[in-house]
Amino acid sequence: MIPLNLKDKVAVITGGGGVLCSTMAKSLASQGVKTAILDLNLEAAEKVASEITQEFGTKSIGLSANVLDKASLENAKEEINKTLGPVDYLVNGAGGNAASATTKAEFLTEDLFDKLEDTFFGLQMEGFDKVFALNFQGTLLPSMVFAKDMLEKKAGSIINVSSMNSYTPLTKIPAYSAAKAAINNFTQWLAVHFAKTGIRVNAIAPGFLLTNQNRFLLIDEKTGEATPRGEKIIRNTPMERYGEPEELCGTLMYLLSDWSNFITGVVVPVDGGFSAYSGV
Ligand code: NAD
Repeated sequence: MIPLNLKDKVAVITGGGGVLCSTMAKSLASQGVKTAILDLNLEAAEKVASEITQEFGTKSIGLSANVLDKASLENAKEEINKTLGPVDYLVNGAGGNAASATTKAEFLTEDLFDKLEDTFFGLQMEGFDKVFALNFQGTLLPSMVFAKDMLEKKAGSIINVSSMNSYTPLTKIPAYSAAKAAINNFTQWLAVHFAKTGIRVNAIAPGFLLTNQNRFLLIDEKTGEATPRGEKIIRNTPMERYGEPEELCGTLMYLLSDWSNFITGVVVPVDGGFSAYSGV
C-alpha cells in the first residue's frame, strides 16, 4: 500500500483566509503539512495561520498576496521558501463571483424589453473582467510562480478550485461560469504539459456550499428564508442539502497525496449528486 505521505510537505493555499480554503488548509495541517496561507486580506490569512499553529502545532504562515500580481506572488514565495522550505503543493483557491458580474434576471422575457439593464445587456465589462481574471488568471499566475519549486524536486501537486457551473453554466453569472469552465480546460492543459515533470494537476468542483460569495443569491437577507434560487438548488441536489466545507477535504488530500500518483488532469465533483442529476 502506498503511504499517504503528506507529513512535512509544504502547501501554498491561495484564498486561504476564506471559508472553504481555510478549512482545506486546516485539514492539511491536521496531517502534518506546513501551510502558507495567502490572501489579499492579510488579517484573515494571519488569523488562519495562527489558528493552525495553535490547533495542530504545525508550522503555518499567513501572507498578503494578490493572485493577479506576479510580483506579489514572487515576494510571498521568497518568504515561504525562507520560512517553510520549497513548495510541494499548491491549492488555487482564491476566486469567487461578484454582484457586478451578475444579471438580475434569469431569463430575458418580453416584459424586460424596456428594462434591459437587468439582463445580459446590462452587464458591466469592469465587473465581468474582474470576476473572470480573479478566477482564471488567479489560477494561472500562482501555478506559474509556485510550480518552479516542484520542477526542481521533480514532484508536486496542484489543485485548482472549479465549480458546478464549469460543466453547465448557471443562470445570472456568465463571467464566473466561463472562468470556471476555463479552469477545467486549463487543468487538463497544464496536466498534459507537466506530465513528464512529476507535477500533477487536478481540480475539485465543489457543489453548493453556503458561503459569503453566494449567500446573497441563496438566502433572502430580510426574511432569512431560502430564495427561489436556493430552493431550486436543493431540489436539484439529490442529497437535498448544501455541502459542508469539511466535505471537500478528503478529495483534496487524496488528489494531493501519493494515493493519486497516476491521476492528473481530472476535475472531481464534490456535489451531493448535482452534476449527475438531470432533474427528472
Ligand atoms: P471566500 O470569499 O470565503 O474566500 C475567497 C478568499 O479569496 C477570500 O479570503 C478573499 O480575500 C481571497 N481573495 C479574493 N481576491 C483575491 C486576490 N486577488 N488574491 C488573493 N486572495 C484573494 O470564498 P469561498 O466560498 O471560500 O470560495 C473559495 C473557492 O471555492 C473559490 O474559488 C470559489 O469560486 C470556489 N467555490 C465556492 C463554492 C461555494 O459554494 N462557496 C462553490 C464552488 C466553488
